[in-house]
Amino acid sequence: MKSCGTGWFCFLLSTFLFVHAAGGRAAAQDGGWHGPRFPAKIAASREIKMGGATLQVDFADGHFDLPLDVLMQHVQAAAAAVTAYYGRFPVNRARVLIVPIPGRGGEPQGTTWGDMGGFQGFTRIRMGEHTTTADLADDWVMTHELVHYAFPSLPDDQHWMEEGLATYIEAIARHETGELTAQRVWGDMMRDMPKGEPAPGDEGLDRTHTWGRTYWGGALFCLSADVAIRRQTGNRKGLRDALRAIVAQGGTIDQEWPLERALEIGDRATGTHVLTQQYAAWKDAPVQVDLPALWKELGIRPAEGGVDFVADAPLAAVREAIAGEAKAPAHPVAAH
Ligand SMILES: [Zn+2]
Repeated sequence: MKSCGTGWFCFLLSTFLFVHAAGGRAAAQDGGWHGPRFPAKIAASREIKMGGATLQVDFADGHFDLPLDVLMQHVQAAAAAVTAYYGRFPVNRARVLIVPIPGRGGEPQGTTWGDMGGFQGFTRIRMGEHTTTADLADDWVMTHELVHYAFPSLPDDQHWMEEGLATYIEAIARHETGELTAQRVWGDMMRDMPKGEPAPGDEGLDRTHTWGRTYWGGALFCLSADVAIRRQTGNRKGLRDALRAIVAQGGTIDQEWPLERALEIGDRATGTHVLTQQYAAWKDAPVQVDLPALWKELGIRPAEGGVDFVADAPLAAVREAIAGEAKAPAHPVAAH
């Protein structure tokens, strides 16, 4: 079960609570929500057919300022982003339940489960009744939740991999459908990746269950692996190839796997040992990444209002392969 909050504060709070409620994750995952977990009354039910999958989208009874069509377009955009990244929608049957929260606005909050109620993936989105199109344009939660479908459920000590993957992939996937520019993707990474670096006393990702290490430490693991795979394969393979192979071999959220099994499949798909070796190094030791050096190699530098790119940087082609300016699509899929 993965719970991802409204804005970074609630996000932090809910994660902090679950980290400190040993064995009591269920009690704290809801970040301050005290209503019923699964409202009984469904006011509307629709379907999205996407990438070979059926996504059932249910709306719990209540009021939204926005028309349901606009909310549907938002789910559709997230599903399209995930489908673009993985080459297919990762599970065949999933359900998204959108619950209106009276008196609230802003970005939604999401929680995702595997293998629930006959669905391989189930996501509950709590959406303020006053949420606007501008809030949805800024929303990363919907895509993040759907990315969770595309990896097996892991033991608690590897929760960082589930969250890190969703954190890393979400923006790249939204870039692929034209929702986010490459400048936005890399600018956000440059701003946020330092949150994932080990602090003093860190004992590695499997043993340091802080918010920063879980979400951004996991994302940093993914970025480092992506770059390493691309270095070793002459940019012919990347993390995407590893992740697609894991999904193709049945590694989705409704399955419980040890992390090693997924990483071995991923490594075979890229013909490297990057994931297995990097996990061995990072799991119980505080590995530092020289981020300024990495940005420089990738050719990403701060600029007025964000970042700009250095065309002849040593790893410019790797940057372009992960999220490139050149492949900005012709038509945005986003609802806004
Ligand atoms: Zn998550």
